[in-house]
Amino acid sequence: MTRTPAGTGPAELAEFAVLATLAGARERTTELGQVIAVLSAAGHDPADLPVATGDRLLLALYRDLTGQDIEPVLTCGCGEFSTVRLGADTVPPPRPRTAVLGRGGGLRQPAYGDLLGLPPGESGAAELLRRCTVGHPERPPEPGDFEAVDDSLAGPLVFDCPACGAEVSYPVDVQTLVLRGLLTLLDELDHDVHVLASAYGWDLAAIDALPRDRRRRLAAFAVGGG
Ligand SMILES: [Zn+2]
Repeated sequence: MTRTPAGTGPAELAEFAVLATLAGARERTTELGQVIAVLSAAGHDPADLPVATGDRLLLALYRDLTGQDIEPVLTCGCGEFSTVRLGADTVPPPRPRTAVLGRGGGLRQPAYGDLLGLPPGESGAAELLRRCTVGHPERPPEPGDFEAVDDSLAGPLVFDCPACGAEVSYPVDVQTLVLRGLLTLLDELDHDVHVLASAYGWDLAAIDALPRDRRRRLAAFAVGGG
């Protein structure tokens, strides 16, 4: 999506910057690279931004851009389905934390900058520990110490099944869910523009000038022939 926005207000311009950045990043970088690009376009500095804080920002950004929250569908073994709303207001806030490892130092939670350029495998894990070590701790940090400082929203979501009462654990990764959702939104926007240009012969500037909701409705009419 490289079109220029026309007739848009400041909020839509900011949205456009985020989505245009993601459109440019989707083919040429990893999920981490895409998240960093999106957060940068939204006005944050990911280098020193804790991943835990970034996950909450991603949820807020998703709400701003789509008007809704992510609601993964959770399935119990008994066949019951439930949804959980994942919003910046429904998840616990991140706490800036450092695990104290004896006197002299500890381990802090990772920021996005710490995750860049890590070697693969165990040497990557060791390097991440080194980067997040604060001071000179008495005990060398171990990978398990991250559990004490990690508030990122990746891991099992545990809930009680409303039908059978069983405790169900469901793996969730907010970073992946938000990115997937934003890429779907990008595809929808491009689809609507394509449909309107094909159906009415409007040029891209005229289509871009329409509010997104209106584009969506007109494209649905055009597809449905209504
Ligand atoms: Zn159940």
